[in-house]
Amino acid sequence: MRDLLIIGSGPAGMSASVYAKRANLDVLVAEKEYLGTGQIAESAQVDNYIGLVGKSGYELGEIFRQDAERLGVEFYEGTAIKIECGDGYWITRFYNGEAVESKTIVYAAGATHRKLGVPGEENFIGNGVSFCAYCDGSLYEDKIVAVVGGGDTALDDALYLSDIAKKVYLIHRRDEFRASENRVLKVKAKANIELILSATVSKIIGNDRVTAVLLANGSRLSIDGVFVAVGMIPESHLLKDIVQIDENGYVITDETGETNALGLFVAGDVRTKKLRQVVTAVSDGANAAISAVEYLKSK
Ligand SMILES: Cc1cc2nc3c(=O)[nH]c(=O)nc-3n(C[C@H](O)[C@H](O)[C@H](O)COP(=O)(O)OP(=O)(O)OC[C@H]3O[C@@H](n4cnc5c(N)ncnc54)[C@H](O)[C@@H]3O)c2cc1C
Repeated sequence: MRDLLIIGSGPAGMSASVYAKRANLDVLVAEKEYLGTGQIAESAQVDNYIGLVGKSGYELGEIFRQDAERLGVEFYEGTAIKIECGDGYWITRFYNGEAVESKTIVYAAGATHRKLGVPGEENFIGNGVSFCAYCDGSLYEDKIVAVVGGGDTALDDALYLSDIAKKVYLIHRRDEFRASENRVLKVKAKANIELILSATVSKIIGNDRVTAVLLANGSRLSIDGVFVAVGMIPESHLLKDIVQIDENGYVITDETGETNALGLFVAGDVRTKKLRQVVTAVSDGANAAISAVEYLKSK
């Protein structure tokens, strides 16, 4: 039986593995994607990770993985499909029929951005379609961008981008925003944000990069980039009968990663928190691993 099984080899899982290995735990990292390094692999250039300049997300993910491998962390390629509670230990079942028993788990399966599902969206990811204004906003200085969505994130993105871009279209399918009143007032006060309400994007078009979005009402907006902010889907379904999950699907825990299930810790984008970025994911991973170490010592 392993001391620790980490589910997910994104930044949170990888960071947890390094701390666990240095604490001499017998640790295994399970990842469903071949050599996967999580969402950050999709980032053309990583921003906000202090000390790192000019690296792509793919490169950063490789560095994380190499660090873990250098320490001797073992990886297992497989999709976890069920987590069961044994007598003081955990059993994780995988899609291929195999199972791993472990005294503790750090669950770091992340989250995925909800997509619009319109033609062009997939093709232009990294070339004008972005899911992260704080990561990619700086590429749009004095350009024209669109933000799609009507919640707090969409309005925050629009406000953030309005200080960088020349013009921001905020496209929302309803005539009222779900975001807080305070944000709505700020957005309305910004001269370079134009609200396009009761409208949906039907297609994203371009050549090498995005050049425009088409709306369902037939109109066309010429833009340089579109930021999709229509929500995240936390990968928490495996835990739904085991730990407390909030109304948006995030596992309820603080930075210790502790949950209401003994020996099961949660780290990264899948947990409740304010900012979902690499820096907070690696911090969570470190904390959750140390929580697992302390839990094992206490037994
Ligand atoms: C396009 C894009 C650009 C971004 N740019 C930046 C940036 O510039 N700066 C920044 O700080 N942040 C950026 N982010 C955010 C950052 O990538 C995330 O906050 C971070 O990756 C979260 O790490 P995580 O380990 O919690 O989750 P994830 O990165 O989501 O990793 C979770 C891992 O778990 C695996 N997994 C999921 N379910 C299972 C399962 N059932 N079994 C086994 N494995 C499973 C997944 O395959 C994945 O590898 C960006 C995100 C995106 C999408």
